[in-house]
Amino acid sequence: MTKLIELNNLKQECENCLKCELGKTRTNVVFSDGSPEAKILLIGEAPGADEDATGTPFVGRAGKLLSALLQDCGLDRKNDLYICNTVKCRPPENRVPTDEEKNLCEHFLIKQINTVKPKVIVLCGATSAKSFLGDKIKISQIRGQWFKILDNFDATVIFHPSYLLRNHSELEGSPRWLTKQDLLKIKDFIS
Ligand code: SF4
Repeated sequence: MTKLIELNNLKQECENCLKCELGKTRTNVVFSDGSPEAKILLIGEAPGADEDATGTPFVGRAGKLLSALLQDCGLDRKNDLYICNTVKCRPPENRVPTDEEKNLCEHFLIKQINTVKPKVIVLCGATSAKSFLGDKIKISQIRGQWFKILDNFDATVIFHPSYLLRNHSELEGSPRWLTKQDLLKIKDFIS
């Protein structure tokens, strides 16, 4: 079975899922964006209002900033990345998903990773990083570091673009500048 068929089947399963409370209030399941052939698999936190309305991850203000940063670093969002979230349905009021919600949704994410088989997994923001590296991590201390997760996948951590929306500076050492350095390293790694 090709990756596309496997992922489409999984998406259909996801669209029928009501395993956690988030399924009751969603407008759309937000399954993925980008290419199943991508070498980079980026995992964000959870869908927000714009994502819930469209069914596509990272399409609001934060998503647009992510797309711009990727483009600045020579990465094509549609072809170089496969993008998804720790949970596929929007938490009400944009709250952080609970451990129980993440656990109930995890099998979809693990299947996405094992189907795409990316060269690198990018953990985008604290919620995503904590899901794989433990609750005690501090995003400011581990962004830019590289890890092995799951079945020996290479993974690295970047700031979430919603944090960067609150930090406008692009001066050397600023969160936006650091994120660009991280994305350039990721680009080098997949080249
Ligand atoms: S968030 Fe995940 S587990 Fe919860 S209803 Fe949506 S698809 Fe199912």
